[in-house]
Amino acid sequence: MSAAIEIRGARVHNLQSVDIDVPRDAVTVITGVSGSGKSSLAFDTLYAEGQRQYIDSLSAYARQFLDQIARPDVDSIDGLAPTLAIDQKAGQSGGRSTVATVTEIYDYLRLLYARIGTPHCANCGSAIAQQSADDIRASLIGLPEKTKLTLMAPMIRGRRGEHREVFETIQKSGLIRARVDGQTYLLEEVPVLAPRKNHTIEAVIDRLVIRDGIDSRLHDSVDLALRLGEGLMSAIVQKPDEAEGETIYSTSMACVECGSSFEELEPRTFSFNSPYGACPTCDGLGKVGDGDDADMCSDCEGSRLRREARRVTIGAVSIDALTAMPLSDAKAWMETVTSHTSALATKVAEPIVREVRRRLEFLMRVGVSYLTLDRAADSLSGGELQRVRLATSIGSGLVGVCYVLDEPSIGLHPADHDRLIDCIRQLQVQGNTVVIVEHDEATMRHADFLVDVGPGAGKHGGHIVSRGTPDEVAADPNSLTGQYLRGDRRLPIPATRRESKQWLTITDVTTHNLKNVTAEIPLGTLVGISGVSGSGKSSLINDTLYPALAKKLGLVSAKPGPFKSLRGATAIDKLIPIDQAPIGRSPRSCPATYAGVLDEVRKVFAKTREAKTRGFSTSRFSFNSKEGQCELCKGHGVERIAMNFLSDLFVTCTRCGGKRFNRQTLQVRFKGANVADILEMSIDAASEFFENVPKIHRQLVSLQDVGLGYVHLGQASTTLSGGEAQRIKLGTELARVSTGKTLYLLDEPTTGLHFADVERLVGVLQRLVDGGNTVLVIEHHMDLLAACDWIIDLGPEGGVGGGEILAAGSPETIAKTKKNATGKYLAMTLA
Ligand code: ADP
Ligand code: ADP
Ligand code: ZN
Ligand code: ZN
Repeated sequence: MSAAIEIRGARVHNLQSVDIDVPRDAVTVITGVSGSGKSSLAFDTLYAEGQRQYIDSLSAYARQFLDQIARPDVDSIDGLAPTLAIDQKAGQSGGRSTVATVTEIYDYLRLLYARIGTPHCANCGSAIAQQSADDIRASLIGLPEKTKLTLMAPMIRGRRGEHREVFETIQKSGLIRARVDGQTYLLEEVPVLAPRKNHTIEAVIDRLVIRDGIDSRLHDSVDLALRLGEGLMSAIVQKPDEAEGETIYSTSMACVECGSSFEELEPRTFSFNSPYGACPTCDGLGKVGDGDDADMCSDCEGSRLRREARRVTIGAVSIDALTAMPLSDAKAWMETVTSHTSALATKVAEPIVREVRRRLEFLMRVGVSYLTLDRAADSLSGGELQRVRLATSIGSGLVGVCYVLDEPSIGLHPADHDRLIDCIRQLQVQGNTVVIVEHDEATMRHADFLVDVGPGAGKHGGHIVSRGTPDEVAADPNSLTGQYLRGDRRLPIPATRRESKQWLTITDVTTHNLKNVTAEIPLGTLVGISGVSGSGKSSLINDTLYPALAKKLGLVSAKPGPFKSLRGATAIDKLIPIDQAPIGRSPRSCPATYAGVLDEVRKVFAKTREAKTRGFSTSRFSFNSKEGQCELCKGHGVERIAMNFLSDLFVTCTRCGGKRFNRQTLQVRFKGANVADILEMSIDAASEFFENVPKIHRQLVSLQDVGLGYVHLGQASTTLSGGEAQRIKLGTELARVSTGKTLYLLDEPTTGLHFADVERLVGVLQRLVDGGNTVLVIEHHMDLLAACDWIIDLGPEGGVGGGEILAAGSPETIAKTKKNATGKYLAMTLA
């Protein structure tokens, strides 16, 4: 095996026939300006080919689809290992994944609780223990005279011979069809052993009736019932002048107090993804209703688990209580867990506990110790999810794998970078190759090998500008990255800071971990919200301030987190959140549709002589309209082919060749180009093309200003990164006439941006503020924070250890508070 993954002639997207050797068993960072081709190299070439080669190594069945999976445009890749991507995209879990399930910790916890958990009785709360037939007899003897006693041996057999459902169904009474000795009987007044949804159940019932007191037959009857019921029996007792009551007895698990029995514990008992463990009211989702209207399930109190599962404890802690603890507390509990258990249980528990502790340890090291194990995966930020996946990969202990990571530093305060870098190193030391697309300077400096892609974006990029150790790249006069690494080039720090006369104040916020926080935001300035990951930045801004303001401005029926008052809101008349959510989920949406460029382009086409003679109106030039779109693909440009085990495949439409429009529409041209040609243009090219159409030109220049010149107007929204989507929103807003009283809210706009891109972005934000507007940015990037007029710093830690405002003031003021993580790093940037 060679010492490197040898990529030859890579031409995916904008890559200019790139040749590069990526060292195996090392950490390689790929950097470069946004749009230069980093992802095209790391994900669309290396990872894509790794996947293909992996499928090739699978069964003949899987291989038959190989031809249908687009092969990356590359001459050859040698020395490639099985490749796994650790990205930021949430899986299609439908709300069923939690931090515990994603990390596989939950599998171990289920096993642990099934093996050594103590169930508690539903009736009297006392503990459940093993019982003998004599114990059961003892609890029956002593019943008053004239008591009617029916003993039963409930036993059901599913197709696969399972007996498990007895306890779930035996409580309901009614009619049952039972087979005894090959004969079918209809029995009344015995428990219904209702078959579960998908399998037929054959029931065998034996009924023993003892009337008028407990007689000598009791001894044999209990034995017989337990034998027929395989350790399980039920007694229907009717005491004089009382209604009948049924109790279930089991030799394995029964309440020491009242004798009623408990289902035998098994891992599925604790699975909310199985009918055995899921809360029946919410089906294991923990909430009822959809989206923002969902309410916590009152039956399971959001724990997703049925009652029986929540009554099982280890040293007084149930599985749902454990998963509700922050990871750091869960780990501390795990360290002492065996002190609560017997010697035998300790022996059983130890290997399981070791695995859980190891995995918790990795999660803490990637900087998410403030999360809880029961946190829904779909409520995590992209960066958090990626770090959770990274910890999982380390915990899995795989070797010989090539891991590809996408900006793992997103959302992470510089104070947490070192630990993240350690984790990435650990993955490599375990015997893997790690390739990271990253802009973070610290990560670059710790790489074994650094690759600088560029020099520009789109067609101006796609070359390997520099490669080598971080020191070699830093010394390379051709590398833009090198200039920043050497410190030759840095973001200008404003000489003065703007001051404000008007303030927006939100008081006593207690959302999530916030501790009665009162935040004062100077209007008409650039405000940074900083703090370590999990300190409460999004809770304050996205979950409270934004919805509170939106509600006050009558925009939407938002549900803000708890706070007391909001003052100074009258100085704001427009609120524009600019987040990283996709700008559209259909392949028909694209930058041109989102930014409104296509609307203007359509007007231009409708005004051409050719359109007028043919009687084509503006709608003709929309691929969303029936008259304009290709009949076959309905304007998508692609046809969808459903695959049985892979995700759907998209192939270029055979009729329009991906142009989306029908032939007649494409015959109309403006300056020689038809509407499909326009959509194929990059924003840079289109800006030149429409130089003399002021409205379109202005829209395009705004998109260029945010560094998106390389993006194609018709590029499907689904292929844009979160950072790109955010900048399209920002560029679109820039082109609009601002009111001067607008509040812009941005969440980590530097995501996906190289030093050089950040410089450009800061310029754009300053322009918005120069227009009198207020810009509020949640950010970790010290260069951007240093450019702010005012900073509100949260902390000191993530989760319960955070939630306070540590300091507020100009960057210089914050830099003086050196005991704060932000202050320390800001001081270095300002120095
Ligand atoms: P980076 O990761 O460096 O930001 P990318 O590799 O994502 O850059 O993009 C490089 C170029 O390829 C850009 O011009 C981008 O618009 C283009 N590109 C990226 N993805 C696609 C795609 N799915 N289809 C067409 N062009 C794409
Ligand atoms: P930051 O934005 O500073 O990274 P957050 O505001 O996202 O921090 O988180 C602050 C705390 O609130 C963390 O402990 C986090 O786990 C918790 N938290 C955030 N969102 C939710 C949520 N949807 N449900 C429960 N807890 C949450
Ligand atoms: Zn529920
Ligand atoms: Zn078509």
